[in-house]
Amino acid sequence: MNQMNAMMLVRIHDLNQTETPLVQQTVPIPTPGDHEILIKVAACGVCHTELDEIEGRTPPPRLPVIPGHQVVGRVQGTGAGAARFPIGQRVGVAWINRACGACDFCREGRENLCPEFVATGRDVHGGYAEYMTVQEAFAYPIPDRFSDAQAAPLLCAGAIGYRSMAFCELREGQRLGLTGFGASAHLVLKMVGYRFPGVQVYVFARSPGERAFARALGAVWAGDTTDTAPHPLDRIIDTTPAWTPVVEALRNLKPGGRLVINAIRKEAADRDAMLRLDYSSHLWHEKEIKSVANVARSDVSCFLELADRIPIIPEVETFSLHAANRALMELKNQRIRGAKVLLMDHR
Ligand SMILES: [Zn+2]
Ligand SMILES: [Zn+2]
Repeated sequence: MNQMNAMMLVRIHDLNQTETPLVQQTVPIPTPGDHEILIKVAACGVCHTELDEIEGRTPPPRLPVIPGHQVVGRVQGTGAGAARFPIGQRVGVAWINRACGACDFCREGRENLCPEFVATGRDVHGGYAEYMTVQEAFAYPIPDRFSDAQAAPLLCAGAIGYRSMAFCELREGQRLGLTGFGASAHLVLKMVGYRFPGVQVYVFARSPGERAFARALGAVWAGDTTDTAPHPLDRIIDTTPAWTPVVEALRNLKPGGRLVINAIRKEAADRDAMLRLDYSSHLWHEKEIKSVANVARSDVSCFLELADRIPIIPEVETFSLHAANRALMELKNQRIRGAKVLLMDHR
């Protein structure tokens, strides 16, 4: 009775060599420590960052580890001093698992840049399991409007999309490009449509399916990664794991435009694309590049509130926990329509 099912990452893999990087294991249900809660997990989103962990671009410091950082579940138990949530309350856990709370970054509300930043599902066990523990201060109440599966992608794709959009400092009437159209970009499109109804969105995506999906959600134009948008763009958010979209996005930017790169790591496969970087056409004219790193708790809570108010109901595709490898491989192979979410059985 004190055991749970989990999908574990035991060692780093090359996903061109295996399609089953995670191993199903039965492990003890964790015990909540001081100020921690035990969560009975209902759903956990599948994020591209899991591929970066598995393939060693942002490797877990200790293995084995249970991945997963878009976790929705109900409070099942509490450790000493934990009194924020009643038993049974539905809560979420995001990528930010904890930060020191004392450094300059933490004190300025930029805890996402804390040198002691701990990531859920990489540095500590995450939500590809039936139960997990977390400090209560790093959990979020989930608005009733969302099903468990719908709430999961809000916690990473949504929160980091929110941070990326804030960095764009958009003004009404501007043109926004999105390069890549996975879970985060599709939530940004919905958010922009609400906050800036006069902003036109242009989507660059490799697969015709993603382009059709973008048009169906309101993009005024959708083309391939290397296409030229019909107008130069004021802002572009890059959510791809590749380099070619960075170069192409800079080319599509208007003078004074800004590229916001929302990616934890870039893959090596097309790194040579950066050799095409030409100062006058890609960087001159005061073009800016800004990356997005992690999320702060305020990104998660502000985005949950906004998503509830608009509302933003994410498109999701669900898998059972033991199908986590299939979900990851489909994400790797760009078979994306909305966000992939694991649902627990709790048999
Ligand atoms: Zn994520
Ligand atoms: Zn800190």
